[in-house]
Amino acid sequence: MGDFNQSVILEAIRQSGEGLSRIELATATRLSAQTVTNITRRLLEGGFIREAGRTINGPGKPRVTLRLVADSRFAVGVHLDPALMTFVLLDLSGAIVRRLSVRTPAEDPHRIVEAMATTIDALIVGSGVDRSRIAGVGVAAPGPLDVEKGTVIDPPKLVGWHRVPLREVLAEATGLPVVLEKDTTSAAVGELWTRRESADDSFVFVYLGTGIGAALARDGEAVRGSTRNIGEIGHIIVDPDGPSCSCGSRGCVEVVCTPQAIVERAERAGVFGDDRRASDVATVHERFSRLCERAAECDDAAVEVLRQAAAHITVLTAALTNMLDVDRVVFGGPFWARLADVYLREIPARLDRASATRAVRTLPVDGTVVGDDVGAVGAGCVVLDSVLSPRASDLLLDS
Ligand SMILES: [Zn+2]
Repeated sequence: MGDFNQSVILEAIRQSGEGLSRIELATATRLSAQTVTNITRRLLEGGFIREAGRTINGPGKPRVTLRLVADSRFAVGVHLDPALMTFVLLDLSGAIVRRLSVRTPAEDPHRIVEAMATTIDALIVGSGVDRSRIAGVGVAAPGPLDVEKGTVIDPPKLVGWHRVPLREVLAEATGLPVVLEKDTTSAAVGELWTRRESADDSFVFVYLGTGIGAALARDGEAVRGSTRNIGEIGHIIVDPDGPSCSCGSRGCVEVVCTPQAIVERAERAGVFGDDRRASDVATVHERFSRLCERAAECDDAAVEVLRQAAAHITVLTAALTNMLDVDRVVFGGPFWARLADVYLREIPARLDRASATRAVRTLPVDGTVVGDDVGAVGAGCVVLDSVLSPRASDLLLDS
């Protein structure tokens, strides 16, 4: 692999889904018929594509449809979350072949990396896929990251991470190339791969995890930023009268919009009928789920807490969309599914009122099509990008 034109052709075949003939490929890629013939011969020999039937279309030779061989290459995607690690094995079409999740071992980063390597092995062995067909491992982690050193800098609830060269240690432990990507950017890549909206799809992805982050896709490609840390929006102020934040301001996203902040608000509003205060990750998760269940059962106090949360996340979203002028907004991340009902009811109209371009168009607001595993799936897609996509191929996998 590594040949630019080869990547262009493979990506065109993947995007088509149903496959393309050599003539259609030449038109789609603007490569010469001879180049297409040479490259598709190599791809056929390498097992990346196969001939899938002939179509007779008027006079002349019948056209042979070329289709992706989905099980010719695979990628592992890992989502590192403070509470849970999710692992997926994707085939070359981006479909999930196998999935595993394990609790994130507390406190010790070395144990986390060990557990990661062991689970990756279990994932591969359990799938029966030959290791030589695995292109690499993508790890989605909370930012900011030091991409040069391959480390996670200072993730919330994961003490001591800045000392761990995650990429190197994991590459050594698994014998596979490893790429590190922000969870938010991974999610946007997963969305791009799965939805196939259009070649010039542009959207803001608002990621609802333990922390809140944002990602940007522009013209069908994830925008990563100079240090690949785009979307660190935790200290944008969304409620000037809100709680004070460790940064010295009041009402930042981090102390207003995160699951922990929403749970605290619900506790103050008496939603749980006690005066306990959740402090650890597990209790916050459990209470957050209960809050969303109460809201689904139309408990007034619970609904009001989530409506407030929706209003605050809209302030953030409007700041992003007014700045970036995209086609649509996508919400996702591990906490999205539980919030989707209330957020999709509340956010579109609020966002429209706050939109600088409301006279021109209404911004569509959707949930991700990938589901709860969007971080892990996206991390796997980052690896597949390096196999398939000409635009991303220069970014990574320097093994
Ligand atoms: Zn702050």
